[in-house]
Amino acid sequence: MQTIEQNVARVLGELPAGVQLVAAAKDRPLAEIMAVVGAGVATIGENYVQEAERVYAVIGHKVKWHLIGHLQKNKVKKAVAIFDMIETVDSVEIAVEIDKRCGEIGKIMPVLIEVNSGREKQKAGVLPEELEPVVRAISSLAHIRVMGLMTMGPRSGQPEDARPYFVATKNIFDKIKQSNLPDVEMRYLSMGMTNSYRIAVEEGANIVRLGDRLFGPRKIDKGED
Ligand SMILES: *Cc1c(COP(=O)(O)O)cnc(C)c1O
Repeated sequence: MQTIEQNVARVLGELPAGVQLVAAAKDRPLAEIMAVVGAGVATIGENYVQEAERVYAVIGHKVKWHLIGHLQKNKVKKAVAIFDMIETVDSVEIAVEIDKRCGEIGKIMPVLIEVNSGREKQKAGVLPEELEPVVRAISSLAHIRVMGLMTMGPRSGQPEDARPYFVATKNIFDKIKQSNLPDVEMRYLSMGMTNSYRIAVEEGANIVRLGDRLFGPRKIDKGED
């Protein structure tokens, strides 16, 4: 059995320069999250605001915090107090609320727009063809900085099955980047999880979000990812 420290060292050694590792920490015990931080992980990804608050209270600003789960309007106020980046902005409506709450505390929130690259009905995220108008609308908000895209891609099947969705997302990323929209800085492309991160990196991801690869298989699965 590999330890968390060994897992982190392997992954950090393997990722090309310029690719950020986010440890996807949902449902993990505090001791394990502390272990990945101790092993050199600089960014923790949390799916749930309440869980993030609990862990943040202990670990604080030793690391950066990314929200990688769906954000509900009634959690935005708490979320903006903790997170350094929200990777899962999927509507103008939620962006407006983030903007309002950030305005109250004088913060400018870096965000990624979540793309529903697999066009899955049950999944969050903006459909590829709706992305540009959504990015334009969100970019006009004063307390939000659009800095890229995030996608999950369909989860079932072989890792290789994810490649077309990563390619499609990278193409949209490049297209938006080339349109040089005002107040949009297309810098980050967050895609790839344990089963698919190598493929995601090949296709241009510069943020990967890993849970099992670092922590080992999850014991509880709430099925919300
Ligand atoms: C859980 C989760 C991950 C990590 O998944 P693993 O398969 O454990 O690597 C990445 N991104 C999001 C949004 C998640 O919810």
